[in-house]
Amino acid sequence: SETRDQLTAFLQSGIYRFSNSAVPVIFMDPVRVLNRSYSRVRVSPSTYYSRFFSSNVAADGVLRETELSSSSKKRKRKEKKPLTLNEREQAADQRHQQVRPMLLKAHECLIGAAELLGVLRSLSWDSSSTAERREVTVGGTEPSFLELGKVWQAPLYEITLKFPRTCASNENEGDIVDQWCDQRVVPVFDNLVVNEIGDEVEAEFLSRKYVIPRQSCFYMFCLLLHIFACLSLYTHFKSDLGKIHNLIPADPGSGFNLILIDPPWENASAHQKLKYPTLPNRYFLSLPIKKLAHSDGALVGLWVTNRERLRNFVEEELFPSWGVTYAASLFWLKVKADGSLTSYLDLFHHRPYECLLWGYCNGKGESCELLSGMRGTMEDQIVISIPGDYSRKPPVGELLQKYVPGAHLPRCIELFAREMVAGWTSWGNEPLRFQDSHYFSLN
Ligand code: SAM
Repeated sequence: SETRDQLTAFLQSGIYRFSNSAVPVIFMDPVRVLNRSYSRVRVSPSTYYSRFFSSNVAADGVLRETELSSSSKKRKRKEKKPLTLNEREQAADQRHQQVRPMLLKAHECLIGAAELLGVLRSLSWDSSSTAERREVTVGGTEPSFLELGKVWQAPLYEITLKFPRTCASNENEGDIVDQWCDQRVVPVFDNLVVNEIGDEVEAEFLSRKYVIPRQSCFYMFCLLLHIFACLSLYTHFKSDLGKIHNLIPADPGSGFNLILIDPPWENASAHQKLKYPTLPNRYFLSLPIKKLAHSDGALVGLWVTNRERLRNFVEEELFPSWGVTYAASLFWLKVKADGSLTSYLDLFHHRPYECLLWGYCNGKGESCELLSGMRGTMEDQIVISIPGDYSRKPPVGELLQKYVPGAHLPRCIELFAREMVAGWTSWGNEPLRFQDSHYFSLN
């Protein structure tokens, strides 16, 4: 009956906690977790999980699951651990060997949870059949914000926020709500766009619809102005950071308590270069983390790759320059719908896991002691999930709530965001990316 309770809790929350493991292990369905940000719409599982399921529903209603990535299969064949490791590779391998037993144990927990595995296969299903699914979407292809931010008109682009009216009629089928009362038209780039109400709002931009969660805001900067203004990439990026400065609170007492960062790290993979621009490590040194942090201190989460050079840079330069003291790691173990790992655990350059480093950015006075106490209680944990779109991370923010210093209702920000979450501020050059109505269906 404990398993049944865990499963019931999972179906509601999207979080399954394994009780039989020394290290905290969680299985997460990001779709269910994200859906807590919405009441009128929901994230459509078939679009979230498009990479690891094909949504072929056969006549008998059985979902045929296929792993789409044939290139990763080729990679598996090609790639082996190098026979002789250089110094850096040896250090990376040592790091891997340290976490390997813990990851294997976590994976065993999942493989042993037969009922949960049964649910996994159906995670990409929309609960209503495809025919019934009422999409919020309008036709056409999704715009690329990265491209739009470069055109000369970018500073003139506007977005219309439509706030819901409580008394509804059924005039506009396909809208998130049936009637909208207040409309607000604001610049979409280089502007903090805020939904301050306790309900999601629909936004319209270039004839496409977007969903803005309750009490959330985004700041999307356009590249154009900076390209004109700056002569080198370095100053170009610094001026992007200038845009972060707009989010620095005048009063540190209203700074952010939780800061999540998923930087566009440079990567050897040519494939990644096509998806979004990347930046050399040193550019991240000037992110004003201390200034964004609340005066009570902040919990800072940084997604890193498994490259040893990057790990050294973070430990030796980046965290110290941000004033962040390391506390614990979260390992994200990636599985397919049948519960198997997305690649061999020991595959040298393409591990089936990524790491999120947590640390504290010190506050003032008393809060310093409080923070070092919290740091001591924070432990490593493992989150297992089926990956969504390329480089999309699972929404782990809420798992950390109890470690966030300061207020009961923490102020949270994600830097380099591609989606929005209720109560959060999202900053980046494409924070509306996964807010396109194409990713949602009506409740
Ligand atoms: N956490 C995101 C998710 O789960 O979908 C993925 C973030 S991805 C690793 C990095 C993001 O940073 C991309 O959206 C990329 O376009 C953006 N980016 C690249 N260069 C940037 C810059 N100079 N300033 C701000 N964002 C940038």
